Amino acid sequence: MKRRQLAISIADPISRRLVEGIAAQLEMEPIALDTAELQQPRRLDAVEILLADECIARKFAEATGDFEYRRDGLHMALVAVTASMSAEGTVLPKREVEQPFAGILPLPQTPSAVLAQLSVILYAHRAYVQRYESALEELSLNRRIFQSVTSGISVADAMADEFPLVYVNPAFEVMTGYSLEEIVGKNCRFLQQWDRDQQGLTAIRDALRERREVTVVIRNYRKDGAAFWNELSLSPIRDRNGMVTHFVGIQNDVTARIAFEDALRESEKLAAVGRLAASIAHEINNPLASVTNLLYLARREKGDTARDDFLRIAEQELSRVSQLTAQSLRFYKQSTRPHAIQPGDLITAVLDVYTAKMSKQRMVLERRDAPCQPVVCLESEVRQVISNLVRNAMDAMWSSGGRLIVRSREATEWRSGRRGVVITVADTGSGMSRETRDRLYTAFYTTKGIGGTGLGLWVSSGIVQRHYGRLLVKSRQRGQADNSSSCGSAGTVFLLYLPYEGIGEARVSAAD
Ligand code: ADP
Ligand code: MG
Repeated sequence: MKRRQLAISIADPISRRLVEGIAAQLEMEPIALDTAELQQPRRLDAVEILLADECIARKFAEATGDFEYRRDGLHMALVAVTASMSAEGTVLPKREVEQPFAGILPLPQTPSAVLAQLSVILYAHRAYVQRYESALEELSLNRRIFQSVTSGISVADAMADEFPLVYVNPAFEVMTGYSLEEIVGKNCRFLQQWDRDQQGLTAIRDALRERREVTVVIRNYRKDGAAFWNELSLSPIRDRNGMVTHFVGIQNDVTARIAFEDALRESEKLAAVGRLAASIAHEINNPLASVTNLLYLARREKGDTARDDFLRIAEQELSRVSQLTAQSLRFYKQSTRPHAIQPGDLITAVLDVYTAKMSKQRMVLERRDAPCQPVVCLESEVRQVISNLVRNAMDAMWSSGGRLIVRSREATEWRSGRRGVVITVADTGSGMSRETRDRLYTAFYTTKGIGGTGLGLWVSSGIVQRHYGRLLVKSRQRGQADNSSSCGSAGTVFLLYLPYEGIGEARVSAAD
């Protein structure tokens, strides 16, 4: 009997209907099976692929054992359905396929992404199971399906040197501007042109050598020379004996997504510059006003001594102004290459800008720096992180004043044993709710209405990651239950850990 049924055992109704809709495009008949039905081998006679929630899929595999769903000597492809997003709404990283599954399908995803993934799983499965000479013959059967997939699909020969392409679908032709005829027989690397020094390419080479799956985002170039960001997933295709004969790739042009993320980072930078400019204008305004007054007085004064006094004070005020402008120039000097800097100096550069504002809003600054070594980092980026933490702390104390505690000390990360610095930014402000704590690092999440962008911590966490550091938070609202103390005080503590050699190491590993 020909197995052309796609069995579905998924609890979530939306995911279930999504997969049902895609079955038709795969030229298969969808059938829904509950856990009781899964225990009746007869129900599975015509099933070629079973999609089940991961826990059900695991139980099914355990209960049936390997041989039971290998009737007529044919396996059934078992696909585990997992969550694509965490409860907080962040996208979970792709998991590698493991035994006993033929594939892993994270849901929810767009229908076209699901179709692309299922057609590749099916292709790999059929190549493995059916009595075809090679995956290439199987390809002729899957070609019809691949043609309707809107993601680019490419198949490369893994038995030949240099992995020559043997097939690409129409969506791949549209995405790259090359036709099937131009591409067949070539290695996929022509899409990189001269741009060979990318981290993702090393990951691909390793995966090809080790004959396993990989997903990366790399820069590629269309035939007309235009660059695009390509999210590429590669999967090995095995024959009946388990030999990897082909690699099949799913390509998606994610240029728009990446451009959007870049624009967001840029707009947070602009917002930060705007806030800084406002603070500086404010700081400069007071001394300038007094210089104007002093000059007025000096002009009207007849006696030399009194005039000299006015001019001396005016000079002092002006030197304060030039100090401020020098500081702000230093603050916004963009560093494109990492260098070593004392954490204390970084903190001072940030706090200098805010001191006047703090005292005006009844905020007391407590500062302590324990001795530590310089950190190798991108100075302006790390300053942006500290600046955002300080701004957030000040915002949280805006109505009632309070204490801002900024400290730095040496620390060792227990997991890796790497040494570095911990910068603490703590406030006695409002604290935050559980919901806020859970969504803190999500782009656009803000509780400040139009006063906030919700991008500060999102950008900061990206910067910290690039420096191989960590950002931790503890927070408490007034009157919130807490085992550690009985008083009802509120506040927030951010801990920023940066390894001494953070971005220095990254540079070394990117070079090899
Ligand atoms: P924004 O400051 O523009 O709102 P952020 O990403 O910097 O964006 O912060 C997101 C949210 O996290 C803030 O709106 C606020 O609710 C919360 N938050 C951050 N830091 C603190 C803090 N120190 N105290 C209380 N809430 C905070
Ligand atoms: Mg902020």
